[in-house]
Amino acid sequence: MALKTKMKCPLCEGKAKLTKITTKLFNGLIVLNDEPVYECIKCGEKFATGKMVDASVKKAKEAFTFKRQIISTGGSLGITFPSDLSEYYGLNQGTRVSIIPKNKNTIEIITQKN
Ligand SMILES: [Zn+2]
Repeated sequence: MALKTKMKCPLCEGKAKLTKITTKLFNGLIVLNDEPVYECIKCGEKFATGKMVDASVKKAKEAFTFKRQIISTGGSLGITFPSDLSEYYGLNQGTRVSIIPKNKNTIEIITQKN
């Protein structure tokens, strides 16, 4: 993605330069390094274009995909959760969750707060 190196600040119309920041999402569970943003030299405002935001969202989705193999537990099938994900959602053995089929390829899991 080719980005303009200079932009006009939407707040103060000052000059903004292209820079890179580290973005943390979900309390640091996902860290995106070298995310391009524009920083205004005059007022310090940081902003991104729609295309830049779209690219970041795509990157975040890729970073936030955990691939797991279905396991067999007795007569049922199970999925294991990565420990940082379990910790983030407060999941333990015995935690009740709701499983909601969304479509042919998507299943939603809702954690229950007791
Ligand atoms: Zn500005």
